[in-house]
Amino acid sequence: MIRSMRCIAIVRVTFLAVVALAACNSAVADQSDNSFRLPTIQQTPGGVAIIELGEQGGAAPTATFNDIPVAVINTNQGYRALVGIPLSTKPGTHDLKISYSDGSNTNKSFGVIKKDYPESHITIKNKRQVNPNETDMVRIRKDRTAIANAKRYRHKNILGLQFDLPTEGIKSSSFGSRRFFNKQPRNPHGGMDIAAPEGTPIYAPADGYVIEADDYFFSGNCVFLGHGQGLQTFYAHMSKIDVTPGEMVVRGQKIGEVGATGRVTGAHLHWSVGLNRTWVDPELFLSE
Ligand SMILES: [Zn+2]
Repeated sequence: MIRSMRCIAIVRVTFLAVVALAACNSAVADQSDNSFRLPTIQQTPGGVAIIELGEQGGAAPTATFNDIPVAVINTNQGYRALVGIPLSTKPGTHDLKISYSDGSNTNKSFGVIKKDYPESHITIKNKRQVNPNETDMVRIRKDRTAIANAKRYRHKNILGLQFDLPTEGIKSSSFGSRRFFNKQPRNPHGGMDIAAPEGTPIYAPADGYVIEADDYFFSGNCVFLGHGQGLQTFYAHMSKIDVTPGEMVVRGQKIGEVGATGRVTGAHLHWSVGLNRTWVDPELFLSE
């Protein structure tokens, strides 16, 4: 799906072709991104670390965390790495591996402190959504591959670093909560739930690129937007999707509507923010 969408982008629109070609290039940003405000620093599991890379001007360094490339931003004060810290990260000291344009390499350490996320107990009436049958499992495995592929996608240019709340509703602080579905432990919650009636418009929170738009067993109708350098936003349980993979979207553009598709207890938008293929707390990127 992602490969084919790049081809479509190349054929259809010159600007998309530029973005799509940049996607093939794993290099980091070389344009000045001074207009972008950096996210709030929170060095906990599920948070974001911002590391000075100690080089100004010239070609951008590259950096990896857990062998995954991280976002590198060109700021007024030189290059900065934005590191998404997975919820599974153990508190302590961790290393960012940096490679400079002259071929030299170094490690920079940063600390991660403990954060206690609350437990969340959810009752799901459709038992198959908690204990899927074999047919469901075939689909779930296919979804997992598609989702993993979407999360790997990164294009070079940063299009936005600061996000508006994507829909009008009541936001929860449930990111990171340790979830139990029908008393059974499951993965921690990787996003912010925003309660809103079915049909409420969902808007792109910043300029971006539609990586994927599809229907998944657990997440229902979903959209993945890429904002550059592996920064992504993800929208789940939608009743309607208004965008297609390969399309550019601008901040404030309607991308779909709130719904109750997939594993839900009611209509809401599940909104995730990803950096280096890990979900981080969306609150750290909100503009207000
Ligand atoms: Zn959610």
